Amino acid sequence: MIKAEIIAVGAELTSGQCLDTNSAWLANRLDDLGIDVRFHTTIADDLADNVAAFRLASERVELVLVSGGLGPTQDDLTREALARAAGVELVRDPRAEADLIAFFARRNRPIPERNFVQTFIPNGGEILSNPIGTAPGIWFRLGRARFACMPGVPNELKMMFIEQVVPHIKGLTGDSARVVVRRKINTFGKGESEIEADALDLTARGRVPEVGITASEATISFRIAASGSTEAEAREALQPTVDLIYRRFGDWIIGEDDEDVQHALARELIARGATIALAESCTGGLISHMLTSLAGSSAYFPGGVVSYSNEAKVDLLGVPRETIETKGAVSDETARAMAIGVRDRFHADLGLSVTGVAGPSGGTVEKPVGLVYLGLAHARGVESRRLELGPEQPRSTIQRRASKHAINWTRLYLRA
Ligand code: ATP
Ligand code: MG
Repeated sequence: MIKAEIIAVGAELTSGQCLDTNSAWLANRLDDLGIDVRFHTTIADDLADNVAAFRLASERVELVLVSGGLGPTQDDLTREALARAAGVELVRDPRAEADLIAFFARRNRPIPERNFVQTFIPNGGEILSNPIGTAPGIWFRLGRARFACMPGVPNELKMMFIEQVVPHIKGLTGDSARVVVRRKINTFGKGESEIEADALDLTARGRVPEVGITASEATISFRIAASGSTEAEAREALQPTVDLIYRRFGDWIIGEDDEDVQHALARELIARGATIALAESCTGGLISHMLTSLAGSSAYFPGGVVSYSNEAKVDLLGVPRETIETKGAVSDETARAMAIGVRDRFHADLGLSVTGVAGPSGGTVEKPVGLVYLGLAHARGVESRRLELGPEQPRSTIQRRASKHAINWTRLYLRA
């Protein structure tokens, strides 16, 4: 397996002013190509440091991807550092020059003199043309390593990588190239440690195919990767593990890739031709937003009410004033009354409500921050659920968790 290093160059990266998204993107692409990324290096715009980093990389991996430092300005040092690391001269490349002249001619603009420095590359290198920018890339051999230097501007880097670097890399890997196929299966409702405890056989080191577990906002995902010499072979290697996960965690699975609880609820609603109306207090419309972010949501979502004040709960949803006065706005009884009220007003099959203490202030001993009541009204009556999302959680987390739990609870109701 080819080992690789990714080097991101730029003071804007080392200072933290600009987030290095290029390295993450490149690492994912190399992973897809079955190349083993061993190192990520980030360096500022210093010639000696760049030379040292390039030398070190050339000694420890076979493929080095460099992002940035190819522009026309003083602090763009990648060309020079590469030439120094190899002990060769920078030479003018006629193709790079022709590309540069054509680039400015298309724009009817004179070529700034300093841009000509971009037509120089280390002797022995090959340019990677850049149809959407002025900085050409460089393909170069240093020691036993191949270097692909690309511009830092993300869309220029991506285009150059896909169109020109990948064919060069395939030339290196030849027949030994492996195709990697991935699936990401998302679950909700069980904690990460619970899922993990039920999946020890899957996540064991060295298992083929590999299974990893990641968590994001209480959505726990299985990531499965399998390789083969063809895509079909890789898919075949992957499928039994996918089937096993679906069999074992079926009730918790909400979708794949970017799908989350709202996608799963939408599927259940559509399958039943059912509609849902929302009465949101502490989530401030977040659930409505999550549902309406999905194309086609008008089929099942007539609307909702953000009933934040007690008056709104009484006037817009018909919650009895005495319920709020005796039980409180954050209570089982209020959640139920909100759900019934909103279902009724929107003539929906389901009415879902949320009322809680999002914090950071407003918590009491009986009703701490993170206490949330959900209500669900349907043709057979109304039910409620109490959540305790943790007094230490920030407001935005409580709002998002409450929303996801409310959606998932409704989904499970429909499935039952
Ligand atoms: P050019 O100067 O022609 O734009 P370059 O190769 O010199 O290309 P840089 O000057 O290093 O590229 O970066 C240009 C811009 O691209 C930066 O200001 C930054 O916004 C963005 N950029 C650079 N490196 C990265 C990175 N690793 N991840 C995300 N964005 C980046
Ligand atoms: Mg630059």
